[in-house]
Amino acid sequence: MDDCIFCKIINNEIPSTTIYEDDDIKAFFDISQVTPGHTLIVPKKHVKNIFEYDEDLAQRVFKKVPMIARAIKESNPDIIGMNICLNNGEIAYQSVMHSHIHLVPRYSDKDGFSMKWADNTGVASDEQMQERADAIKKNLED
Ligand code: AMP
Ligand code: ZN
Repeated sequence: MDDCIFCKIINNEIPSTTIYEDDDIKAFFDISQVTPGHTLIVPKKHVKNIFEYDEDLAQRVFKKVPMIARAIKESNPDIIGMNICLNNGEIAYQSVMHSHIHLVPRYSDKDGFSMKWADNTGVASDEQMQERADAIKKNLED
């Protein structure tokens, strides 16, 4: 992809602070460093989002997440947790349309990162919940 910033980073056409690289992925610091050590794991194959991964690509990319997460955590005793996010689509806060996994080390509840989760427990009836589940289940691939 000629105009893709992450393809350019993968091809070393623009610089990055890279912490790990193999045939399938490149892991480099997010330029914004939401918290210190904020890292992106990026498949070398240009896929836009999670909906474009096949099973083979998924296993080659996601199997590396724990190893890189542990290395980040062990790099600093102040890291007491980590949020791992994969944003898919503009509505889900994706701004670079080459899929990437954010690893955001957590230091405290005032470290600059937060997520807001609505609690809609009990809003949908059991029947509505089952309908939703059935609609998903009929689309599962083998
Ligand atoms: P997202 O909003 O999930 O698509 O995340 C895209 C991320 O890419 C943002 O957190 C940006 O800070 C980051 N980013 C954009 N350009 C660069 C770059 N040249 N090097 C490293 N990270 C970048
Ligand atoms: Zn790309």
